Amino acid sequence: MKQLNEFGRIPLAVLPTPIQRLENISRLTGTNVWIKRDDMTGIGLGGNKVRKLEFLLAEARAQGAEVVFTTGGAQSNHAMLTAACAKKLGMTPILILKKRGVTARRGNVLLEHLMNTDVRFMDTDSYEDIYAEMDRVGQTLGRPYYKIPCGGSNAVGALGYVACAKEIADSGMHFTHLVCAEGSGGTHAGLALGAKLFLPETTVLGMMVDTDPFDVITLGIMRQTAELLEADVRLGPDDIHLRDMCGPGYAIPSEEGNRAVRLMAENEGLFLDPVYTGKAFAGLLAMAAEGAFKPSDNVLFLFSGGAGGIFAVNPED
Ligand SMILES: *Cc1c(COP(=O)(O)O)cnc(C)c1O
Repeated sequence: MKQLNEFGRIPLAVLPTPIQRLENISRLTGTNVWIKRDDMTGIGLGGNKVRKLEFLLAEARAQGAEVVFTTGGAQSNHAMLTAACAKKLGMTPILILKKRGVTARRGNVLLEHLMNTDVRFMDTDSYEDIYAEMDRVGQTLGRPYYKIPCGGSNAVGALGYVACAKEIADSGMHFTHLVCAEGSGGTHAGLALGAKLFLPETTVLGMMVDTDPFDVITLGIMRQTAELLEADVRLGPDDIHLRDMCGPGYAIPSEEGNRAVRLMAENEGLFLDPVYTGKAFAGLLAMAAEGAFKPSDNVLFLFSGGAGGIFAVNPED
């Protein structure tokens, strides 16, 4: 197997991110709940995409790219962080976002404006249309460009979360469960593969906040990432654990998610977002209520960021 340090990686995140015990939530749920502070990755407002971008932008730079395209929903945290990281590295980000969602100059769209980012909205529901538009724009510009898929969720991006699993293993702490939000699959895929390699006692749980076929998507990314790493692991559907926490739809707050946002705020002084981490944490709370965790278990929740969205998609709306 290859080592992670054999892959190009530009240090963008402040690592390792802290792991903290949530004392009040642990008391309320009757198990040991810990939080991995990937909301503190140190650029933009923090978030999980920075770990993926360390590998993706290294590949972009190695290929000589000057322009970096990416996409997502109108309030994509990933797009905002891609702009922040690309700007820092002296590359030109161009965001071609789906028109669906809050396109007003609020939340992440405001932050993109402050970074003087080229943001375009495309009236389509198909990412294929958007990738084709990236090629059209890139060829018109006549400058070398690099395309990052929605969420940075491919094998190269997922390396960031294989590395995160290694970081957790290197902390010397032991967790029975690792819970993350799942929007495009790369985070879960990286963690699940990383757990297989470095955290064999840990079950990774993906909390779905969209309606895509994540069983197939996650396993696909896991397999491609394992191939990139030349890792000798057998992967199958049993390696994927999912729970549907989407509620009324992607980027539409749910009752359960909003309750989780308030519980975390009121008890721990941390602000989850209504699109990803609030819904994911609601999944953890629901499992605790169902008796899925023993009092002696140690459950690590990945706080994957999302702060930008709070000011656009309001849990109180
Ligand atoms: C993108 C995102 C996720 C989901 O990660 P994926 O790798 O896309 O599944 C979770 N939380 C936040 C805040 C995000 O922006």
